[in-house]
Amino acid sequence: MSDTAPDPRNPSEADLEAFRAEVTAFVSEHAVPNADYAACKSFQAKLADAGLGGIVYDRSYGGAGLSKAHDRVYREVSSKFPTMSNDFIISHGMCLPVVNDFGTEEQKRTFLPDNIAGRTLWCQMFSEPGAGSDVASLQTKAERDGDEWIINGQKVWTTLAHVSDYAVLIARTDPEAVKHAGISMFILPMDAEGVEVRPINQIDGGRHFNEVFFTDVRIPADNLLGELNNGWNQATAMLMYERVAIGTAGAGRISTPNFKLLKAAAKAGDMLEDENVRQDMMRIYSMETTKSLLALRTRAEMQSGRAPGPGGSLGKLFGSVIQWRMREITMNMAGPGSQAWPADDVAGGDLAKQTVGSFSSSIAGGTDEIQRNIIGDRVLGLPRDIAVDRGVAFRELRVGTQV
Ligand SMILES: Cc1cc2nc3c(=O)[nH]c(=O)nc-3n(C[C@H](O)[C@H](O)[C@H](O)COP(=O)(O)OP(=O)(O)OC[C@H]3O[C@@H](n4cnc5c(N)ncnc54)[C@H](O)[C@@H]3O)c2cc1C
Repeated sequence: MSDTAPDPRNPSEADLEAFRAEVTAFVSEHAVPNADYAACKSFQAKLADAGLGGIVYDRSYGGAGLSKAHDRVYREVSSKFPTMSNDFIISHGMCLPVVNDFGTEEQKRTFLPDNIAGRTLWCQMFSEPGAGSDVASLQTKAERDGDEWIINGQKVWTTLAHVSDYAVLIARTDPEAVKHAGISMFILPMDAEGVEVRPINQIDGGRHFNEVFFTDVRIPADNLLGELNNGWNQATAMLMYERVAIGTAGAGRISTPNFKLLKAAAKAGDMLEDENVRQDMMRIYSMETTKSLLALRTRAEMQSGRAPGPGGSLGKLFGSVIQWRMREITMNMAGPGSQAWPADDVAGGDLAKQTVGSFSSSIAGGTDEIQRNIIGDRVLGLPRDIAVDRGVAFRELRVGTQV
């Protein structure tokens, strides 16, 4: 028998099997299907209490201090309950790695333990009315005043801002620089005076995202995240994490949620023997299997130590292509019931929710066209888009309300 303690960052196969048993027992006891926000939050707290929260993050920041191999095992086991982490995709999939990568020691010790344990929820404030795909055209500004930054401007489409405690915000700090160079990243407490959140009502009856207005919002100078005017590079890193988080959701095993939805609908409508329906089901099954394999590869690349690269856009785009195909299929299967539902049925049917919600996957986290541009430019090495604003100071550009 070895007399050395196991190295948590370099586990043996036996260590990983023991860990799998531990996670399986935890998940079977605490996870529930169709979790809402309250259930997600309580699950994250229990995970952290059990030493299983923030698997790859240091213990001094509230993480489990384990390896990427442990993380893979955790994902495999927990992917049977995808809704348990739904509301934390932005908080944990994007804000946590960015604060960990760019935060000071003090920021990490202050913010990461509560983030990991789900005691605080974080949102991402990039998009503005005049800056979405071209987010570097943003106009929200942060000006230094003594020991504080003063923020003025507006964000839009901020998912979960209405329930978040903090935001990772990007704002313009140097309008004289070219547009990508004068941006910085901040940690914004959502309860700061002058932050106003207005919910946006969605077509499916949901209220997941918001407009956010800033009027002379003062935050401490220490809330600058990373280097001054390096916000664009950090935002790019965060977008890569975002695409990986979206494109590899449920990664860890072959996952076919849309196929299962179609199969249940076909069974309910007595259409399982219909040749066209069967073909459609198999097409979606093949596409979802391919997407899962792609996600497994992306995760394996990250586990081998590579930072998420533009290849993350492939998974994100493919997920969106599946939604486009699903929209056609559900409309063929359910007719008007795929788009409308009785007024007294607030939630609507599964197929209807699928159809009206399907458009968002082509926009959220960067549109399909932008993913195709990234794949063309940075994966396939095709010539870049023409940029008429290269070398021009932001103040000189005609963007948003700036003319
Ligand atoms: C469900 C959902 C959740 C979201 N959550 C957040 C969030 O939490 N935080 C946040 O900051 N943002 C969020 N967003 C916003 C999202 O990131 C933007 O909507 C997205 O980047 C597109 O920007 P836009 O809406 O301004 O469209 P635009 O950029 O104005 O694009 C309009 C159209 O032009 C096309 N287009 C633009 N530029 C090019 C180009 N160079 N080449 C080819 N085509 C181009 C686009 O593909 C699109 O079809 C969310 C969006 C959705 C739908």
